[in-house]
Amino acid sequence: MRVIVVGAGVTGLTVGVRLVEAGYEVHLLARELPLETTSAVAAALWYPYRAHPIERVLAWSQRSLEEFTALAGGDEDCGVVMRAGVELVRERGDVPGWAPAVPDFARLESAPPPYDDGWRFTAPVVEMPVYLTWLRRRLERAGGTVTRMALSALPDQADMVVNCSGIGARLLGPDSDVIPVRGQVVRLAQVGVEEWVLDGSGLTYVVPRSRDIIVGGTDSEGEWDRGPSPDAADQMLARAVALVPELADAPVLGHRVGLRPARPTVRLERDASSPHQTLIHCYGHGGAGVTLSWGCADEVLGLVKGLTG
Ligand SMILES: Cc1cc2nc3c(=O)[nH]c(=O)nc-3n(C[C@H](O)[C@H](O)[C@H](O)COP(=O)(O)OP(=O)(O)OC[C@H]3O[C@@H](n4cnc5c(N)ncnc54)[C@H](O)[C@@H]3O)c2cc1C
Repeated sequence: MRVIVVGAGVTGLTVGVRLVEAGYEVHLLARELPLETTSAVAAALWYPYRAHPIERVLAWSQRSLEEFTALAGGDEDCGVVMRAGVELVRERGDVPGWAPAVPDFARLESAPPPYDDGWRFTAPVVEMPVYLTWLRRRLERAGGTVTRMALSALPDQADMVVNCSGIGARLLGPDSDVIPVRGQVVRLAQVGVEEWVLDGSGLTYVVPRSRDIIVGGTDSEGEWDRGPSPDAADQMLARAVALVPELADAPVLGHRVGLRPARPTVRLERDASSPHQTLIHCYGHGGAGVTLSWGCADEVLGLVKGLTG
């Protein structure tokens, strides 16, 4: 059976890999190729952020954590590594709902001022340019294809279509519930930082990768501008240096902006209203598309199998 997947970000590529490796004929169509997508901008730390509903998000995150952990231990070229780090928060409260999924999650005995609480754990860091290239190669080796194509509507000439168009679902759904949450990051040279750090009460994060360090972030709802703001970059860097003083002299390598596809809930379901073909939607992953990717792809595969017998 032929399946068209719309989108070549982390969602479309992961869904494509799962389907093609299960024996389906898979073709991805996308306006932006993998390295041009929002997915390529992500930091990307495994962390369930700005995605709902919480029960499904927890299950998808846990499944992805297992998959990323296996990839980090099994394939040196995939760009996934397990890194320890710490999240700091200014007001003591409950630990996050996903904590039981993380084997070495440990609450800090004391947090450095001005923080009041925090926790340390090991999480996958997914170096997106490397990982997206690796995913695309895995898809193509199994017989899948990726073609650049800007669509004004979902295709109606395939047996089955999976819509993984991220923020593009606003037009292709059409779904006005999907809104952009603009995120900006600064890329710094790697100056020997090994652990990631998050300020869980604000938007500051420092995520080291093999050759650079991603510093974030911003979180502007409803903004479409993909141009980096120099002021936002300066503010982020000042906050990041306060968290990790070693960054003070790190050379700036570049600035990136991405539009998180936020939605009140992730839309992962069959759309029975489509008259032409079987249509499955998988979009609206907000700030956690990488974190949810394998869990969602497995669920899409389950839906496709159920529909094709
Ligand atoms: C600054 C920043 C930091 C982030 N950090 C993290 C993190 O640490 N961890 C994490 O899990 N997540 C993180 N995210 C969120 C994550 O990047 C997104 O949730 C994820 O990229 C969504 O992936 P996607 O494949 O659904 O969408 P996208 O990557 O946006 O891909 C959508 C695809 O659909 C295609 N498309 C859209 N419309 C059309 C059309 N009309 N015709 C043809 N093709 C179309 C696009 O061209 C593209 O190929 C971050 C995001 C940002 C911006």
